[in-house]
Amino acid sequence: MIQIYNVCKNYSKDSAALDQITLKIPKGDFVFITGPSGAGKSTLLKLLYAGERPNRGQILIDGRNVTRMSGRQVPFLRRKMGVVFQDFKLIAGRTIYENVAFALEVQGRKRYEISKKVYAALKNVGLEHKLNRYPLELSGGEQQRVAVARALVVDPMILIADEPTGNLDPETTIELMELFKSANARGSTVLMATHDRDLIRRYPRRIVTLENGRLTEDREV
Ligand code: ADP
Ligand code: ADP
Repeated sequence: MIQIYNVCKNYSKDSAALDQITLKIPKGDFVFITGPSGAGKSTLLKLLYAGERPNRGQILIDGRNVTRMSGRQVPFLRRKMGVVFQDFKLIAGRTIYENVAFALEVQGRKRYEISKKVYAALKNVGLEHKLNRYPLELSGGEQQRVAVARALVVDPMILIADEPTGNLDPETTIELMELFKSANARGSTVLMATHDRDLIRRYPRRIVTLENGRLTEDREV
C-alpha cells in the first residue's frame, strides 16, 4: 500500500512541481499516471523511490515513512522496487547479465542464486540468448526488455515506470505492456507514467491525471 498525503514539491520558489497531492494506491493496483509534459509525473515517481524529497506532506510505503527516511535506509526501500526509465539507464560497460545481476549482488545474494534468477528474468523477457552481449549491441526495444528484467529480477513489491515506452515502436510497446501486466498478475503494484492516450485506451486501468502539479482526475476502471 502506498499512501501519499498532501505532498508538495517545488524545485524553485516560484513554481510547484507538485501541489497538495493526496493519493492511495492499494497493493496489486495498476495505475497510469498521465498528464502533459511538465505536469509532475516524473517528480511524483521520484518521490516514491526517494530520488527527490517532498517539501511538504508524507509518503508511506508499506507503513514506512519514506519522507523521514535517512540516506542509509533508502537502499532498503529500493530493494522492494523495480524502476524502468524512458532512456533505459543500462550500464554500457557491463554485459546484459551483469546489468541484471547488479541489484542482486548489492543485496548480497549467493552466486548460484543470482545466476538462476538472472537467467529466469532474461528468459521472461526473451533475451536469455543475449546475456553476454553489451547494451549498445541491442536494439532499443531489447534494451528496454533488459531494463524490465533488471527491474523484475528482485520480485519488486512496486514496479515504477517513467515513460517506459517513450522510445519504443508500437509493437515493442505492446510487448512491454504484456510484461508489466504479468508482473502485476504475479503481485507487483505497477505505477506507470505515460502521456500516450492510445496506450491507456488499450489497457483500461486506474488513471491518475496531473496538470500543473495538481491532481485533476483519479479514475478507476
Ligand atoms: P513530467 O514528468 O510530467 O513531464 P516533471 O515531474 O518532470 O513532469 O516536471 C514537473 C515540473 O518540475 C516541470 O516544470 C519541470 O520543468 C520541473 N522540474 C522537474 N525536475 C526538475 C529539476 N530537477 N529541477 C528543476 N525543475 C524541475
Ligand atoms: P521526463 O520527461 O521523463 O520528466 P525530463 O527530460 O523532463 O524527463 O527530465 C530529465 C531530467 O532533467 C530529470 O532528472 C529531471 O528531474 C531534470 N529536469 C527536468 N526539468 C528540469 C528543469 N526545469 N531544470 C532542471 N532539471 C530538470
